[in-house]
Amino acid sequence: MLGKLRPVGSRIPNPDAVSTTEKFPWHRDYRAEFTSSGTAALAMAISLAVSRKAAISPPEVIIPAYGCPDLVAAIVANGGKPVLADLIPDTGVMDESQVRGAVTSQTVAVVAAGLLGFPERLEVLAKICNDLELFLIEDSAQCFPPASTENPWADAVVVSFGRGKPINLMGGGALLVRVELEKDARDVIERFPLLKAKAGVIWRLKRRLFHLLMARYPFFVLEKLPFLNIGDTKYQECSAICRVAMSELMVLAGIDDFFSRPLTYPLYDRELKPLEQFGWKKLEGEGASVQNPRIRYGLLAPTEDVRDQACRALNSSGIGASRFYGQTLAKIEGLQDLCGSGYFPVAEDFASRLLTLPCHEDVKADDVALVARILLGLYEN
Ligand SMILES: *Cc1c(COP(=O)(O)O)cnc(C)c1O
Repeated sequence: MLGKLRPVGSRIPNPDAVSTTEKFPWHRDYRAEFTSSGTAALAMAISLAVSRKAAISPPEVIIPAYGCPDLVAAIVANGGKPVLADLIPDTGVMDESQVRGAVTSQTVAVVAAGLLGFPERLEVLAKICNDLELFLIEDSAQCFPPASTENPWADAVVVSFGRGKPINLMGGGALLVRVELEKDARDVIERFPLLKAKAGVIWRLKRRLFHLLMARYPFFVLEKLPFLNIGDTKYQECSAICRVAMSELMVLAGIDDFFSRPLTYPLYDRELKPLEQFGWKKLEGEGASVQNPRIRYGLLAPTEDVRDQACRALNSSGIGASRFYGQTLAKIEGLQDLCGSGYFPVAEDFASRLLTLPCHEDVKADDVALVARILLGLYEN
């Protein structure tokens, strides 16, 4: 099979497009500061949380036991300690009792990280954070719009404009701070250096190149280049934490593009329904973003073996399926020492069975039908 349907990644908006959207979805309750990345926005949010408490060393931040390694990077950048909370079975959301149990006198914040288009349970976590006077950060890097745009549950919200995210500007992010907190937050935020945005010639060339390489044949070749390590989950320290004077029009154009993408998940919902009888489950959730385009479609296989077999079969037929992070945070290389030696059986089970399927604008009905044939074919003999 020649050609590969990339696992993730949408087109980058045209910087010269005139946007029809005039307001950010968060305009009512939050003020935005654009940043050099989603990780930088999260690091700033954690700085805010730290600044609101008397000096604590090290400050602890609660995060899900299965999640993006950048969560840890943003905490470590603040001299903080990540504290993992296990999940509710067959979901990417944290178990409430695990969150409560993880709180100590050192805890400053809880990060509610949405997974694959499904936000965390912000209302539940807001209740805990209110009771215990903790700062609640919604990490909406994988979901758009953030759940807190419906109801301002989170004190701060993180958005990413990275390559595999809902709004792809090839980098950048936003920190949204709830309007009541904005005044106090300014001092902390303004300590971070402010960079000029560059949607100049280089950025435009990069955009062109990205669009060329995302097609099926170029991606097939690209993925084979070992030095690119496409798809690997790696822990990377958070480098520069900067604010960026980004063009609002550009972000609005990205939001426009996002909402105008075709919906692919209903095709998967329909075609993959027969897998339920074999113990497969689709990821589900609630909140502002679940009816919107998704970056990837998440499925749970009945066992790790079946998941791995499915992942291999799909990839060898040209479908960029993925095991996603593959491991709990505590087991990702480079994080063992940072995350401690806790035992997270639910997150481990989740990590071992999660399979993601491409869900971007170039996934066609034929691709979804092929995915269904391959997965159902696993049961044919
Ligand atoms: C990608 C991601 C980030 C980091 O965003 P970048 O813009 O890549 O730095 C943070 N949190 C989650 C949940 C993510 O998926």
